[in-house]
Amino acid sequence: MIPYGRQSIDEDDIEAVVAVLRGDMITQGPAIEEFEASLCASTGAAHAVAFSNGTAALHGAVAAAGIGTGDLLVTTPLTFVASANCGKFVGASTGFVDIEPETLNLNPTRIPRNADALVAVHFAGLPVELERLNRRPRVVIEDAAHALGATTPDGPVGNCAHSDMTTFSFHPVKPITTGEGGAVTTNDAELAERLRRFRSHGVMRDPAGPAWIYDVVELGYNYRLTDLQAALGRSQLTKLDRFIDARNAQAATYADRLAGLDIELAPEPRGSGRHGRHLYPIRVGGRDRVAADLRDRGIGVQLHYVPVHLHSLYRADGWKRGDFPLAEHAADRLLSLPIHPSLKHDELENVLVEIGAAVAATSAESR
Ligand SMILES: *Cc1c(COP(=O)(O)O)cnc(C)c1O
Repeated sequence: MIPYGRQSIDEDDIEAVVAVLRGDMITQGPAIEEFEASLCASTGAAHAVAFSNGTAALHGAVAAAGIGTGDLLVTTPLTFVASANCGKFVGASTGFVDIEPETLNLNPTRIPRNADALVAVHFAGLPVELERLNRRPRVVIEDAAHALGATTPDGPVGNCAHSDMTTFSFHPVKPITTGEGGAVTTNDAELAERLRRFRSHGVMRDPAGPAWIYDVVELGYNYRLTDLQAALGRSQLTKLDRFIDARNAQAATYADRLAGLDIELAPEPRGSGRHGRHLYPIRVGGRDRVAADLRDRGIGVQLHYVPVHLHSLYRADGWKRGDFPLAEHAADRLLSLPIHPSLKHDELENVLVEIGAAVAATSAESR
């Protein structure tokens, strides 16, 4: 099965991890700080705080911003559930902003008046046009799990030009990987300090006091990344540009070669800036048949995503089908095609042939 996404690991990545294994510190050593510094250099943010995964990074961001009980956190229904769950982690209530079909991102001109926090998800790696926000809630967090390496007219995603914090995931299908991993970037030194405390049990040390004394000042977690993972992340980050270029080249091939089919191609950026191309989401009628057919043909297509409000956990809050019709309509037709730097030329050619066949077979049947 050709997967829709997977990691790209080279010998130098392996050597970077082995070097840490041979050293003294395998967690919270120098590799973490080096990886964080590389993330700052790559995104243009003043601070980066590594986390054990992207979900922990979101939890940290929402907690550091002081979101909690009585607050309303809004996000897009068309995302991985962690983008919404981070509100539940801290006792906030959740709301959703329906998508713009042209971008598949939430509509930035429809942020409700009563929103305290916005989690703006750069779906598939296409940045949300945050300069178009109709209002700016107290807290703006970018969920850039799909979008490391993407750029906006205001610079790299992660520079927080229009937000307080940006979160990343380094799961194997994401733009770079550390196995599991995540990070938060911010330009606010105080938020960075709170994120570091939250990551490590709420511990505070007095720099003037003895090194063996610490105080736990608030509830924190163990959300630390290991040095093994950080070394892998730093090595991966040196290849980010090449990875994103490869993804964009594959997307251009899809756009060119699938143009004649009865499908809607993945959204293209509208202004200047580079798409991250984490996913290549097409929309097609008879999606379930096309998807089953493609999987029978060895093409590992996926659905991103079942809208968050239609999961049982959120239905229990009262959400139902019909609440966000644009996201629901898209989700009924969406299909993510394989796209990742280690996808080989002949595999891509094979995908193109099989999609043509599967779409033709499905539309012949529906006539
Ligand atoms: C992957 C992902 C996350 C969560 O990241 P993990 O590292 O898997 O915890 C959050 N938001 C979005 C949009 C994602 O795709």
